[in-house]
Amino acid sequence: MRLQFLGTGGYHPNERRHTACLWLPETGVVFDAGSAAFRIQPRLRTTSELDIFLTHAHLDHVSGLTNFIVPFIIKQLTRATVHAREPYLTDVQKCLFSQPLFPVNPGFEYRELAAEVALRDGGKLTHIPLVHPGGSTGFRIDWPGKSFAYITDTTASPDYLEFIRGVDLLIHECNFSDAMAQWSATSGHSNTTPVAELARDAQVKRLYLTHIDPQHPEDDPIGIETARAIFPATEIAEDLMEVEF
Ligand SMILES: [Zn+2]
Ligand SMILES: [Zn+2]
Repeated sequence: MRLQFLGTGGYHPNERRHTACLWLPETGVVFDAGSAAFRIQPRLRTTSELDIFLTHAHLDHVSGLTNFIVPFIIKQLTRATVHAREPYLTDVQKCLFSQPLFPVNPGFEYRELAAEVALRDGGKLTHIPLVHPGGSTGFRIDWPGKSFAYITDTTASPDYLEFIRGVDLLIHECNFSDAMAQWSATSGHSNTTPVAELARDAQVKRLYLTHIDPQHPEDDPIGIETARAIFPATEIAEDLMEVEF
């Protein structure tokens, strides 16, 4: 299974990172559609159908939904379904695609998340609500012999440890280094040590950190050695990085 990070930043883009978007190019599964979503169209080679799963409706996770008009017009896309929990699904339709803001629906179907979603490639997607201002959603996919979880826009917590337990690949937000830890709870984001401890305690195989604070475009914005001292198999995700798992 291949996964590509298209956008690994939080809040707003900077010169190094666009905001949240990752996808599984073989199956057309997309998570979040932040400013990096424009990168999907030139990469639409193996599928003309997309299933876009939104964690929540903050703009750094949905603004790129407005980038899909052309791939629909030129028939590069035959179907794209936006999946989210309420109220995010209605917020996107009523607010992002309100007449004064963006008057055209590119062609999306909208579907409220069922408790379990069967993916086209045989994967089983499940989800869990996360604590964040306005809430967020954690996702997990299980295929035969393979699993993956995506947790963003929340403060790392054992509340969802069982949900992510044992996955082959955990993608977890780490907006802040430990030096900024006092901002984690107030902003609903995470810092390095609690994320690494959670990965260790949940016995995941590999951890990739994403949703990086745009104030920190440097190579190591979160203190990677701190994370690796707790959970050695940790990497910092970068835009356009590809992971095999
Ligand atoms: Zn965010
Ligand atoms: Zn958010």
